Amino acid sequence: MSEPLVRVRGLSKRFGHHTVLDGIDLDVARGSVAVVLGPSGSGKSTLLRTVNHLEKPDAGFVEVNGEIIGYRRDGTRLRELSDRAITRQRSRIGMVFQQFNLFPHKTALENVLEGQLAAGVRRGPAEARGRELLDRVGLADKERSYPRQMSGGQQQRVAIARALAVEPELMLFDEPTSALDPEMVGEVLGVMKDLARTGMTMIVVTHEIGFAREVADQVVFLDEGRLVEAGTPDAVLTEPTHERARAFLSAVL
Ligand code: ADP
Ligand code: MG
Repeated sequence: MSEPLVRVRGLSKRFGHHTVLDGIDLDVARGSVAVVLGPSGSGKSTLLRTVNHLEKPDAGFVEVNGEIIGYRRDGTRLRELSDRAITRQRSRIGMVFQQFNLFPHKTALENVLEGQLAAGVRRGPAEARGRELLDRVGLADKERSYPRQMSGGQQQRVAIARALAVEPELMLFDEPTSALDPEMVGEVLGVMKDLARTGMTMIVVTHEIGFAREVADQVVFLDEGRLVEAGTPDAVLTEPTHERARAFLSAVL
């Protein structure tokens, strides 16, 4: 395995007295796909949000591309880093949410452009790249459509194009198909599969076991903030050792 792009060590996060993440260790190799499974409330979103520096760990650290923000390798606190350093690292991470979070008053193309324009890319090159990305997610003909004129599956594909526009080295997906009607799940998973094939490093929270089996290099299972299973899709999906993982999988399969 090559040097991991993402290293998570001893990561813990509390909200008040509630320990939401409890000593998580996770490596994600460059160019690989990790699927995160677990029941509601097990800490999946908090894990992604911490990787993206939307939450600060209480212990442990997240390292992306060799760069640690906020914490030493042994988990002790570094000096507070500037907002700029965090913004810089976050700009290399794309995130896609369950609720697409598109700007309702912007067209598909304008939504895709927004991050590039904010990063100072000139309008001409930004538009060229935006069109290329809309084409890549199968929406070349929708550049002038507003979110309300598009299906949920189309909106989520715009959200993926938007996340890709700033050329992230890591993509985080938080239940990207959970809010979609069943007939639209496939088109979004298809775009994600294509992306995985291009070598994008991805961490995907999903209950789509078929996607995990087909695309994931590793599957991990969270239960009450602990990472209780980790391994190949075959190992984790076929023969989970942890009781909660077994119960969860028999319910979703
Ligand atoms: P999952 O995505 O697996 O459903 P989450 O990471 O969203 O789980 O949440 C894990 C637990 O942390 C839940 O009990 C949730 O209520 C709690 N939690 C998440 N965010 C916050 C917050 N900002 N403040 C307080 N509690 C939170
Ligand atoms: Mg969640």
